[in-house]
Amino acid sequence: MLNARIPSGPIEQQWDKCRFEMKLVNPANRRKHSIIVVGSGLAGAAAAATLGQQGYRVACFSYHDTPRRAHSIAAQGGINAAKNYRNDGDSVLRLFKDTVKGGDFRAREANVYRLAQISVNIIDQCVAQGVPFAREYGGLLDTRSFGGVQVQRTFYARGQTGQQLLLGAYQALEEQIAAGTVTMHIRSELLDVVIVNGRARGIVTRDLVTGHIECHAADVIVLATGGYSNVFYLSTNAKASNCTAIWRAYRRGALFGNPCFTQIHPTCIPLSSEHQSKLTLMSESLRNDGRVWVPKKKGETRAAKDIPEDERDYYLERRYPSFGNLVPRDVASRNAKEVCDDGRGVGPHGQGVYLDFADAIHRLGLETVREKYGNLFDIYERITGEDAYTVPMRIYPAPHYTMGGLWVDYHLMSTIPGLFVGGEANFSDHGANRLGASALMQGLADGYFILPSTVPDYLASTTLDPVDVSHEAFMATTAEVKDRIAALVAIKGKRSPDSFHRELGKIIWDNCGMARSDAGLRKALARIPELREEFWHNLRIVGGDDELNQALEKANRISDFLEIAELMCIDALDRTESCGGHFRVESQTPEGEAKRDDAHFSYTAAWEWKGSGQAPALHKEPLTFEYVPLSQRSYK
Ligand SMILES: Cc1cc2nc3c(=O)[nH]c(=O)nc-3n(C[C@H](O)[C@H](O)[C@H](O)COP(=O)(O)OP(=O)(O)OC[C@H]3O[C@@H](n4cnc5c(N)ncnc54)[C@H](O)[C@@H]3O)c2cc1C
Repeated sequence: MLNARIPSGPIEQQWDKCRFEMKLVNPANRRKHSIIVVGSGLAGAAAAATLGQQGYRVACFSYHDTPRRAHSIAAQGGINAAKNYRNDGDSVLRLFKDTVKGGDFRAREANVYRLAQISVNIIDQCVAQGVPFAREYGGLLDTRSFGGVQVQRTFYARGQTGQQLLLGAYQALEEQIAAGTVTMHIRSELLDVVIVNGRARGIVTRDLVTGHIECHAADVIVLATGGYSNVFYLSTNAKASNCTAIWRAYRRGALFGNPCFTQIHPTCIPLSSEHQSKLTLMSESLRNDGRVWVPKKKGETRAAKDIPEDERDYYLERRYPSFGNLVPRDVASRNAKEVCDDGRGVGPHGQGVYLDFADAIHRLGLETVREKYGNLFDIYERITGEDAYTVPMRIYPAPHYTMGGLWVDYHLMSTIPGLFVGGEANFSDHGANRLGASALMQGLADGYFILPSTVPDYLASTTLDPVDVSHEAFMATTAEVKDRIAALVAIKGKRSPDSFHRELGKIIWDNCGMARSDAGLRKALARIPELREEFWHNLRIVGGDDELNQALEKANRISDFLEIAELMCIDALDRTESCGGHFRVESQTPEGEAKRDDAHFSYTAAWEWKGSGQAPALHKEPLTFEYVPLSQRSYK
């Protein structure tokens, strides 16, 4: 059933061949085609702007009040590209290899190779837009390192790379809005996808200000709606990020790829209170210069400055001398958990490790460190009240990114014809673990370069019946959306949406977070349906459905988190191997590293919705590794 549509031939020629073989739409015919893009983060804004520029009629939707508020704006550290400006041995092949290996051999080789190829175009595109990447004194673009690699290929704009890239994409989008090719629908939330004759032909949205339910028809739908890390309640994602768009598409027949592959980022500010609603990332770029350590002694009570050098354990440098503090995220996160579980964690709850800049300040000078990371130090100071120039930062892993998402073929089309998925919303090119600075690369590759080729090919090679919102499928889907909202408002129970979300987050963090076990996953699978049952009987939403109602918005999104959480656990239970961010405690090497089981699990798990109360069906896309031979990852 699963056809990834990988072009034949040598990997380095596949994308060119595919583009050459794709059908084109005559410029005069493009305005006859309508395209809906849901999401105006980096992936969505780039896709909408580019398709608009090509001459299609694009409608772009976002629940935000402006495209500039998309979660992409939070990205701090940088974006990878195989430019080899440093002449330090980088190449398309090396970026490809690092990414396949970093993802613990659970990504599709053809897609990753294309991503590495396109990476070089992204930087040119963004520089042409005026994105102010950091430059060296002589004016050349500067780069730095991120985890899991030994070259410096990460382009950055201080600690605000996502913001600057999004401003570039936003300007491109605004240009098309002004030109009339893109119509922007803000504060408009997709609540369902409409399928007509087996093809995605529209969406149902709710106007978040008036509560009005609307239908929109098009020839093609693109989802670029971001990731679902907020299933954990506490995560580094923007509070509003959610899974509703991809989850509702899953319920309409799109397969869901690797739902249990989530990333726990090693460098976040530790949780300080039970009542906290958000975690904050300290960019991985800090590991270029910061040194990670904990005291050697358990239960140490002395302040960092009073602990002498020989009583400190720079555990990443000790265990992984080749990569040191720049090991990949999954490895760094697991090691932090291990030393904290061993009683050597620092800070109020012992759930923290030090990220120390004393050596870097000594070596480079305070001003250089401030220039490179100043805004991150400011964020840290504002949240913790501590000055990281004089005392080490305290960091701890936190949910950050989801490698899982809707399954897509090489053209980025889901299993529903006409439904394309880009950016973090698809199951992506990162396998079981994403390397730092590669999400922005993937989102922009999808948005600026891949979707603008594959979507027109679909339009040119498909005969589409004329469909408008009077079609019975729109009526039926709208009725279902209205019923669901009415049901939520009518419950009138006692618990707030947040209290359910917080409880769900703890269940999933404890059992499907940094470590997963058979017993823990079964416990979660027993508890999640009970919590969902209670949600539908005991939820309390204040206010109605015909007005701005943030409690209703949350409840709606949480109702989907309560379902996706179960699928994550089912997927995690099924995959009895460890790989990347998915660490099954039953499957580890004697040194405590993730132990893959290639003989049984070298595949992408793609799950099919079978209805409420029914077990989902598992489909497998076998993964083969012709160019990067399967090997046990080692960063030693
Ligand atoms: C704190 C932080 C720092 C990061 N730093 C980096 C970094 O340095 N480098 C890197 O490569 N990656 C980084 N990442 C990851 C990266 O930022 C994201 O993966 C990426 O920006 C996602 O882009 P996107 O376009 O796919 O989705 P998003 O930016 O999340 O955009 C989603 C869009 O979809 C819309 N939307 C969602 N659901 C609906 C719906 N139902 N109806 C209507 N609209 C909807 C939203 O309004 C929004 O416009 C970071 C992530 C975090 C959390």
